[in-house]
Amino acid sequence: MKKILILLLTTLLIVGCGYKKEENKENVAETTNLKVTVTTSFLEDIVNTLVTDKVEVELVIPAGEDPHTYEAKPEDLNKIKNADVVFYHGLHFEGKMVEYLESLNGIDVSKDFDKSKLLSLEEDGENVIDPHFWFDIDLYKVAVSTIANTLIEKLPEQKDVINTNLKTYHSKLDELKEYGIKTIGQIPKENRYLVTPHDAFGYFSRTFDIEVFAPQGVSTDSEVATSDLMATVDFIVKNKVKAIFAESTTDPARMEKLKESALSQGFEVKVVSGEGKELYSDSLAPKGHFGDNYLDMLKFNIDLIAENLK
Ligand SMILES: [Zn+2]
Repeated sequence: MKKILILLLTTLLIVGCGYKKEENKENVAETTNLKVTVTTSFLEDIVNTLVTDKVEVELVIPAGEDPHTYEAKPEDLNKIKNADVVFYHGLHFEGKMVEYLESLNGIDVSKDFDKSKLLSLEEDGENVIDPHFWFDIDLYKVAVSTIANTLIEKLPEQKDVINTNLKTYHSKLDELKEYGIKTIGQIPKENRYLVTPHDAFGYFSRTFDIEVFAPQGVSTDSEVATSDLMATVDFIVKNKVKAIFAESTTDPARMEKLKESALSQGFEVKVVSGEGKELYSDSLAPKGHFGDNYLDMLKFNIDLIAENLK
């Protein structure tokens, strides 16, 4: 009888434990999906490259929109408020949202940069840091590592996966840098001038050795002065620039204006614009289009520039 009672108790205990285990499993599954909110398509791409399990990523600024001037909508603020982690570029790139992002302890992905590697420009008498660091592949690698470290902190069980993906991605970035230096280097030195609508390519210039010029500063949140347009036209005419480029996030009309002004000085320059021929400066391509990830986007830019300036 004693034996039977013990057996019965043991069975009950096992059944009890089994039930409890199931319940715990469900709770764990619910709580370990980390909610990550990112401001831009670049950061969305980085998170998706590093880890796909146990993560839900929300994007605030849609691909193709201009982050300098983007104003958060109520649903964006909810995405930021309800996230476990928020990643943003920093360096005042998200000009209209930066205070909100800082106040909610968002992670500025530029926080680990060697500040001496940052470019700055004087604009309206003020020294402004150039936020377009993703065109410096070495700085981009630092941002990727910063994001990886935060993700490992929040998802320790994914540590090995994240570290492996980080290593693979870093070597792909190194390869792309080599490709860019080689490809841009094939443009004859006398043609190596990149004219774009706003000053987004300073780091690109330093990384790939091509001189850049733009009528608008490092942010698009300002009027373009006629004097700056005229200075750009002078630059085009003086250097006999073969082609000037539109970008996916700004109005291409500005480049047509530059072309007309150059023509009035007797110089004809080609405007590279239209669908599939615009440079990606401040956003990746929309999902499903070539350039919807960083590696393809940068390769697209490099090839488009080289093709039209050679
Ligand atoms: Zn920009």
